[in-house]
Amino acid sequence: MLTAEMSEDQIFAELLNRHGSHTPAVELKIKAPTVKEILRLKQERNAVILGHNYMEPVVYDVADYQGDSLELSRRAAQTTADMIVFCGVKFMAETAKVLNPDKTVLVPSQKAGCSLAAGITAQDVRDLREQFPDVPVVTYINTYADVKAESDVCCTSGNATKVVEWTMSQFGTEKVIFLPDEYLAGNVARETGRRIIYPTKRMSPNPQPGLDYQMIGWHARCEVHEKFTVHDIHRVREEYAKTGEEVLIFAHPECSPEVIAESDYSASTSIMIAEVKKHPHAAILLLTECSMGDNIIASNPDANIIRMCSIRCPHMNTITVENTRDALLNVQYQVDVPEDIRIRAALAVQRMIAIG
Ligand code: SF4
Repeated sequence: MLTAEMSEDQIFAELLNRHGSHTPAVELKIKAPTVKEILRLKQERNAVILGHNYMEPVVYDVADYQGDSLELSRRAAQTTADMIVFCGVKFMAETAKVLNPDKTVLVPSQKAGCSLAAGITAQDVRDLREQFPDVPVVTYINTYADVKAESDVCCTSGNATKVVEWTMSQFGTEKVIFLPDEYLAGNVARETGRRIIYPTKRMSPNPQPGLDYQMIGWHARCEVHEKFTVHDIHRVREEYAKTGEEVLIFAHPECSPEVIAESDYSASTSIMIAEVKKHPHAAILLLTECSMGDNIIASNPDANIIRMCSIRCPHMNTITVENTRDALLNVQYQVDVPEDIRIRAALAVQRMIAIG
């Protein structure tokens, strides 16, 4: 564990111990003084650093709390620190601000966007509500605050099914609008045996009479997870079949339903990390952002993880130790959410946290 009391040499030794097997020593040596500065500034500012599972390993190490969107939202709701530095993408930092209006919330890079979050607007949600009156809206946490504000409840990839069941029972409906991830919606529909439609703006005023559906989806996708294919899985299985070694495929629920159907396990990033520990003797192909594999290896040096590092999230990768240090040093870049939006978004997020 890294602490502000450690010298640069001690920090370097710790980084080398954790990442020496997959990161050149010189790279870790260069990062050690910046890590030292982050640890000092964190104390000085009474700041907490939240690090998403997709952070590059050294950024992940400087975080006080690591996890997926749900875990980090919970941490953000509980913190007593004056400042939150969110090492993740902007919609995550916005969620922290929604839950902590009186705290300073920073995101280290202004380029930390997300293809899913950018795939839907608040006006799109209002249009869908008009098109499907009285149907409650479940929105994936990977959206901006103004979209959350138009929703009844949020969910993460870890609790999407539970939230859909809760919403239908709570609102007494047979239908739910699930936004914006096309694949996550398809996977929830498949898992719960429900039929899903993806309406277009031209589908007016409503789908054809008599059409049997219980979920209404949207066409946004994660630009990382949509790239994994069934062919990737077959290739890896074929290679391992030649050696007789056991191989398991873990896929994130933002992958396509076809990929999920061919996988052995599908769950949020934090649940995947816990599941890896239960299979110490198998090789595990992780179909998710590559940095997560590095972070798993750092805490489980014997884990046999296969990653597809040709596919990286260009947004998560804009967060570095250098811009995390700059965020603390210059108190940049502050995340703000207009109060009327914040209040409505907070209700949807707090419902999600309460459902668990
Ligand atoms: S991995 Fe996908 S969902 Fe996550 S931030 Fe990147 S683009 Fe968005």
